[in-house]
Amino acid sequence: MTIGAVLFDCDGVLVDSEVVGLEDSAEFLRQRGFDWGPSELIRRFTGKRDDRFRAELIEAYGDVLGRPATEAEADELFEGMLEARRLNKHKMQIVEGAIETMAVTQRLGLPMAVASSSRQEHLDSKIDRFRFAAFVRPHVYSADRVAHGKPAPDIFLHSAEQLGIAPQNCLVLEDSPYGVMAGVAAGMEVWGFLGGGHCFDGHSERLSAAGAVKVFDDHFAVQQELIAVMEEHI
Ligand SMILES: [Mg+2]
Repeated sequence: MTIGAVLFDCDGVLVDSEVVGLEDSAEFLRQRGFDWGPSELIRRFTGKRDDRFRAELIEAYGDVLGRPATEAEADELFEGMLEARRLNKHKMQIVEGAIETMAVTQRLGLPMAVASSSRQEHLDSKIDRFRFAAFVRPHVYSADRVAHGKPAPDIFLHSAEQLGIAPQNCLVLEDSPYGVMAGVAAGMEVWGFLGGGHCFDGHSERLSAAGAVKVFDDHFAVQQELIAVMEEHI
């Protein structure tokens, strides 16, 4: 494959946001009868857009209640859980080495975009707060703007189109199985990323099973590989 562009997922790849608020969300759900721990929450929902996340959570709530949740109960549960997550938003950190990976990408002459399941307003604030903007703007795309969230390929195809690069020449960096599946469905090469704080045991195998051709422990390893692959083509 000839790499013509790099598409970055945001949460868990650039910003260590997945792990923030996880305990709070799990506790909130525990109080409502769920028996999911943090790793179960990550396994079920990481990388999914809110609409799908909500639908699956509400369905599981029906199992907990022994009957379908009412619309009001569903709203209370989902919004309450998001609120529990948001309480610790200020603790969010950049993933170590993420800026350097963008700098290497730029130095290699590759255009780049961020393609995320996060809502556009949240995504914009993360991109600006952690200083990714200078590398990647204006190519910051939320799945809000396409018909289907990950694992559908829409947001990656949209990003490739905006960059003017054919999907088969786009490299995707992803930390969630659904994100990996989305990249594969878009016809792109996907590298799995384990450098986020939420990557529990077995995560590497799950990314490989979803179709990641390589899996990396941190950004330094990604940079080395990117440079090596690009040098092969010179
Ligand atoms: Mg992610």
